Parts: sequence; C-alpha cells; structure tokens
Amino acid sequence: LVVVEHVNKHFGDLHVLRDINLTVDRGEVVVVIGPSGGGKSTLCRSINRLEPIDDGTIKVDGKELPKEGRELAKLRADVGMVFQSFNLFAHKTILDNVTLGPVKVRKSGKQEAEKHAMELLDRVGIANQAQKYPAQLSGGQQQRAAIARSLAMRPKVMLFDEPTSALDPEMVNEVLDVMTGLARDGMTMIVVTHEMGFARRAAQKVVFMADGQIVEENTPDEFFTNARTDRAKDFLSKIL
Ligand code: ATP
Ligand code: MG
Repeated sequence: LVVVEHVNKHFGDLHVLRDINLTVDRGEVVVVIGPSGGGKSTLCRSINRLEPIDDGTIKVDGKELPKEGRELAKLRADVGMVFQSFNLFAHKTILDNVTLGPVKVRKSGKQEAEKHAMELLDRVGIANQAQKYPAQLSGGQQQRAAIARSLAMRPKVMLFDEPTSALDPEMVNEVLDVMTGLARDGMTMIVVTHEMGFARRAAQKVVFMADGQIVEENTPDEFFTNARTDRAKDFLSKIL
C-alpha cells in the first residue's frame, strides 16, 4: 500500500534520508524506531509530502503524491498523520475539529460528517467531550481527538510520529490502546515510537533507522531479542 523506493533527502549538507526503501502492505503495522536525529520524522513527513524529497519515489495505493496543487490535498487526505503535539484547532470544539477536514476536503455534508465524527469520538472513547474545546481536555484525550480527526478523512494509511511522547505516563496507555484497536481492525499504520509493548502487541515489522538509513528490518520478537547489528544492539541497550 505504501512503497518507498530509493528516497534521498538533504537538509543542506546533511544527508538525512539515504536510499530509503520500505514497503508497507495493506493492513500491516510497521514500527519505526531509532536514535534521535536518525530521520524518522523526516521519513514520515516525506510520505505525507510535508517535506519534499530530492529523489526516489513514494507511492500510496499505487499513486505518487503530486508536489502541490488541489490533487495534493485530496491525496494527502489518504495519509492520516498524528504528531507528538496534538495540533488541534484551539478555537474550535472537538466535534468541529473532527468535521472540518471531511467537509472542506472530502466535500461531505455537515450532518453526515457529524454523524461519522461522533462514531469516531465514541471509538476513541471521548464522545462525551465533543462540545468541549481542546484546552478543556487532558493530553491523552486531546491525542485521541487528534486520532479521530485523522480517521475522519477515511485515510488509507495512518502515520504516527511519537504520538505518546508528550503525554504524562498515566495517559500513554489510553492512546496506545486506541492505536492497538485500530491495528486489530486492519488499519495500515506506520508508527514512530519507542513503546516496545505496543510494537510487540501490534506490529508485524520493526524498522530500525539511524543516520538516515534503514539499518535493520525484522519482526518485533526477533528485533527486540536478537538484533543483528551492533548499532541496533547498542540502541536497545540504552532504552531497555
Ligand atoms: P527524534 O527521535 O529526535 O524525533 P528523528 O529520527 O525524528 O529524531 P528527524 O527529525 O527526522 O530525526 O531529523 C533528522 C535530522 O535532520 C536531524 O539531524 C535534524 O536536525 C535534521 N532536520 C530535521 N528537520 C530539519 C529542517 N527543517 N532543516 C534542517 N535540518 C533538519
Ligand atoms: Mg522525530
């Protein structure tokens, strides 16, 4: 469903993505893990065309995202993205946050969008918060609202970039549980996270990224117990 081929990217002199090749099948959950500065966020942002790439191709469902224009907004809606910071619109209610995209980009009717939004808010466990503003919610609730907002666009794939790392520890699990549920329901997901419990529970594949390269790719069990490269072993010894 997502095919990344020979992707390179530089920030000035820094070669931040080095010949990245990655395939994510429909319904597959891939966890991306690795040291800070390794290029994980840049890879996610490239897949969503928030960052231009220098060369290579990125296809989602067989289509390459155009660089700009109206088609980009539509195709980008196929790729949901959830960030570390929740990025909700502060001056809109949770319900409005969730319906905005479908109404504007997907041209859904308001009633239909609201019905779908309430189903999604229910699914992430915050239907009773629909009329509140983001600041009135806990961090975990805000992140679940952000997930509902992404899902409202009916994306084909969801990207998560360290979705729990800004949360207080007691709120981490409520967000991971929602993500685990999505994975069980067959959502295709690329998740940057160091939450190994989630990786073991939900992922089919772990990709270890360092210095702009994919250093190792394996099943979670193999990766966490039997990493092949010194680079990965060294990283794991620091986070385990
Ligand atoms: P972290 O675990 O800290 O989130 P990461 O693996 O997500 O790290 P990236 O954010 O992708 O790493 O950054 C990779 C490298 O690119 C870093 O050295 C970073 O400083 C650099 N970088 C990221 N964004 C930019 C930018 N907009 N301009 C210049 N350099 C950047
Ligand atoms: Mg990052």
